[in-house]
Amino acid sequence: MLRLEGLAKTYPTGTKALAGLTLDVEAAEIVAVVGGSGCGKSTLLRLVAGLGRPSAGRVLIDGEPIAAPHPAVGIVFQEPRLLPWRSVARNIGFGLAHLPREEREARVAAALARIGLADHARRWPRELSGGQAQRVALARALVAQPRVLLLDEPFSALDAFTRADLQEHLLALWADTRPTLVLVTHDIEEALVLADRVVVMQPHPGRVAAVLPVDLPRP
Ligand code: ADP
Ligand code: ADP
Repeated sequence: MLRLEGLAKTYPTGTKALAGLTLDVEAAEIVAVVGGSGCGKSTLLRLVAGLGRPSAGRVLIDGEPIAAPHPAVGIVFQEPRLLPWRSVARNIGFGLAHLPREEREARVAAALARIGLADHARRWPRELSGGQAQRVALARALVAQPRVLLLDEPFSALDAFTRADLQEHLLALWADTRPTLVLVTHDIEEALVLADRVVVMQPHPGRVAAVLPVDLPRP
């Protein structure tokens, strides 16, 4: 469903961040990408998100090459990046302006319930804990019903207890529409808990060192 075909990226500084990475990801598959700092994980996600152009290769969804940010692809970063002057509900509904109001509100309300924040709809982002804010960021990404969701170290700023909680919220939200997930993490345990396959990258330049199937039940 998602195909990364010979993706390469050399930055203007001369740094080879990625050298011809090819990877096929199935619909509804959860793939974790792990590897040490500097092995090109963020570069990989940015290219799939259309934030930056590859030096070579391409990204395809169902055989169609995509370039530039694409509505079928969502992304969540390590920081929630909520809009501070919008309520929690309006942050979640932010990308849904094109939908009829009823549908928009139904999606926002369902997402709020999924993340256990139904009573926080009218709160401001600054009133949320770090874990709550990241739950809102996940909800905002998933209510848009992307076909591919990219997660760039989404839980690494959180303590271990909150991280486990967020992993469960992520899976609950994911189960509604089952997008293809590409999760970048340096937490190997997180990769094993969430993913169907783990892609191990090696640096200088970034390549796939191994692709490992995971055979563990999800929480
Ligand atoms: P990771 O996410 O695995 O830590 P990155 O994709 O951030 O790796 O970086 C891969 C390599 O590319 C590193 O050597 C990094 O310093 C370099 N790099 C990343 N972004 C840029 C940039 N905008 N300009 C120049 N070099 C970059
Ligand atoms: P604004 O009016 O500031 O432009 P939006 O119309 O983009 O904000 O709001 C985003 C979405 O969040 C809208 O669909 C809005 O109806 C929805 N929304 C706001 N408050 C709630 C709430 N308490 N429960 C469910 N949805 C809500």
